[in-house]
Amino acid sequence: MKVRARYYARVKKKLILLSLLILCSVGFGIFHKFNKAKEFSLNQNSRNDFERYIDAGYFLQSASLSSLEETYLHPEKKLRILLVPGHTNDSPGAIYKDSKEVDFTFELTEQLYKSFLKEGWADVEIASLRNEDVNGFRSFFIEKGSDIEAFEKYQKGISEELRNRLLVEEMEEDNHVTAKRDIAELLYGINHYANKNDFDIVLHIHFNDYPRSDINEAGVFSGYALYVPDSIFSNSEVSLEIANSIAQELAVNYATSSHPLENKGVIESKELIAVGAHNTARTPAIVIEYAYIYEPFLHSVISRQEVFETMVDATIEGIRKSLE
Ligand SMILES: [Zn+2]
Repeated sequence: MKVRARYYARVKKKLILLSLLILCSVGFGIFHKFNKAKEFSLNQNSRNDFERYIDAGYFLQSASLSSLEETYLHPEKKLRILLVPGHTNDSPGAIYKDSKEVDFTFELTEQLYKSFLKEGWADVEIASLRNEDVNGFRSFFIEKGSDIEAFEKYQKGISEELRNRLLVEEMEEDNHVTAKRDIAELLYGINHYANKNDFDIVLHIHFNDYPRSDINEAGVFSGYALYVPDSIFSNSEVSLEIANSIAQELAVNYATSSHPLENKGVIESKELIAVGAHNTARTPAIVIEYAYIYEPFLHSVISRQEVFETMVDATIEGIRKSLE
């Protein structure tokens, strides 16, 4: 009996100690949280900074899939889509034998443009510097050069501040070659143009490549890959939803990229200006690398036309399905 009483006393003592410990840690947690909240609410500077970060597009999403769905379903409204054929005459992108990426991106963009126009729900523009294109971007880019520069500088300043405060991780290197200065200016210009003109989706059309020693030799990787903004950026959620849906449609006819850094098919990027590096894109933006530049089906005119048709259909179908 005595032994049992001693045992119960010991258990009771242990229970009391344990409850005290739990009470203390809960108390400390509440105190700590309260202090943090007080610190933030008292620190007006922090609050101003926080507002500036939100203003620069951080911490809040700038687009929602439901508002895109609403526009898509509305009988009188149309989704504004900006198509960006990758590269320029001066900077033609990937090269394989005598084929240049820029020629393929323009060809595919033209086909996408025509097919989107046939869709009742899409209002589409092409952003490029080639004269003949139907778009408002070219004059915007020529006239608003200083505006674009100021925009780029402001966004870069904010992202540097955030990195210094460790609120945003250090940028990592992408598998892509860093954009040359003139291409960088063009891409920041496109982001600024899309933000200012209320576009709903920006699609960048590309064909992939990786450093090869001989441009006349086909490389080893093949397949499609889509790049979307990193999740810290304000246009990330909708971009990811739509990109996943396009990837699913492309997968019907094509394989995901065999490049080890692209095997997920849809890849998030902090670095690519086209999808909004330094949070410069409020509009959902996706870079589509439809295939590697040297893949055989791109190099006969007949098969290329057929392939481009299926790529166009997959792109439009992917967007449509993400909104239904
Ligand atoms: Zn490219």
